[in-house]
Amino acid sequence: MHASLYVGGEWRPTSVAKPVINPATGESVGTVAGAEPADLDDALATAAAGFRVWSQTLAHERGRRLIDGCRLIRERIDAIARVMTLEQGKPLAEAKGEIATSVDNLEWMAEEATRAYGRILVPRTPGIQQFVHREPIGPVAAFTPWNFPALTPLRKIGGALAAGCSLILKPSEETPLTAFELVRAFHDAGLPPGVLNLVFGRSAEISAHLIASPVIRKVTFTGSTPVGKHLLGLAAQGAKRATMELGGHAPVIVCDDVDVPAAAALAVKAKFRNAGQVCTCPTRFFVQQGVYDAFVDAFTAATRKIVVGNGLEAGVEMGPLANARQLASIEALVGDARAQGARLTTGGHRLGNDGLFYAPTVLADVPDTARMMSEEPFGPVAPIQKVASLDEAVAKANALPFGLASYVMTRSLSRADRLSRAIEAGMVVVNHFTVSTPASPFGGVKESGYGSEGGIEGLDAYLVTKSVTMRLA
Ligand code: NAD
Repeated sequence: MHASLYVGGEWRPTSVAKPVINPATGESVGTVAGAEPADLDDALATAAAGFRVWSQTLAHERGRRLIDGCRLIRERIDAIARVMTLEQGKPLAEAKGEIATSVDNLEWMAEEATRAYGRILVPRTPGIQQFVHREPIGPVAAFTPWNFPALTPLRKIGGALAAGCSLILKPSEETPLTAFELVRAFHDAGLPPGVLNLVFGRSAEISAHLIASPVIRKVTFTGSTPVGKHLLGLAAQGAKRATMELGGHAPVIVCDDVDVPAAAALAVKAKFRNAGQVCTCPTRFFVQQGVYDAFVDAFTAATRKIVVGNGLEAGVEMGPLANARQLASIEALVGDARAQGARLTTGGHRLGNDGLFYAPTVLADVPDTARMMSEEPFGPVAPIQKVASLDEAVAKANALPFGLASYVMTRSLSRADRLSRAIEAGMVVVNHFTVSTPASPFGGVKESGYGSEGGIEGLDAYLVTKSVTMRLA
């Protein structure tokens, strides 16, 4: 398998081919191309030409083309999911689920394309008419990470293309093969040349090159807060719009009125999905003292049952970490927390010698000073703290510069209402862990970024407003 560049509706050979590594085995599963500046200039030129065609295509027709691409992705879901598991490590069922969810999101956007209405204003002068038009912003540069190799590109493709924009996608070079397969589906579905382009290579050089070009009118990125801030700086130099989906550090406030085993079982499933490499992953558990011990015990028991292994094997519930950086980071964070007095109840070590496996880990009594309480632990570790009151829990939840997802577990309606208003986050989820659906806006506040993907906000992100006023002659 080779993830090549896709520019102007054609697959483009390059002299560079870097290996793509399976984190479960350490073996190469394919190669990824590397763009040179001339390839990027061609991608910019073709995105500009593609925008001229696509922005003039009727919204119904744009929607139909996108849905044709979605149909092909659904037909190929087994093969694409296998590719994702090979390059990213998540279990096959999770990979399939991610692709199905992504296609749901995209289909919803494709339909929403026909509802990008403007307005007619009431005139203040006889003979004058006033309209508000909504128009696609222009060619978009999109940068996506390795933790959700299908969901992150398809959210950006969905919003941008539904709105009438063209797009240059630069996925992670660590999971390029899934993105390649997705783009191939749109190519096979007959998307016009230039509307969707795919480039890989040296991230920093590509983003600097694309964002500096006057062709690009909008930047969208999912990834870490430091890289997001850097890209915002580049976008600011051209006063370009940006949507930033950055890091989180999601609090889970567990109230003393919950059904403890049920709450713990739900939380464990959410915690260890994708081996904890999820920006909305529950990462700071604040448990009221009345149920603290019981919650730690139930959470630990459920965690011990998780089956870890190669995601291609039947029955596996958690795969390896996606890259060596994550493994090193989690080992360091767990070591630091234990050195500061955190109590390990399960896990806390690597599994096996081949592959990047780390045992699902639970740490109780984690002090505030432990690094993992302020740095996003992007892996399979659950830090749990006891809190004396809900006010204390809210203060802790809001203490960090992050504000992406947050969770509350309670059987009290008034507590659910009070806490969901008090927590500073882009998304609050009460008594379950499904953060978003196609219709809901997905995004963060504070340093977790700004703007939303999904929902009508996710289409709006690619539209500009034009006020038109005319006196009829
Ligand atoms: P990183 O910050 O180096 O890279 C994150 C992503 O951004 C990668 O896909 C990378 O290809 C891309 N990237 C990096 N520099 C870029 C640049 N100059 N221009 C354009 N794209 C660029 O981090 P990492 O080592 O991959 O992960 C570190 C941490 O980032 C993780 O531990 C996690 O906390 C966070 N992260 C968050 C998400 C998310 O979904 N919000 C995704 C991946 C990583």
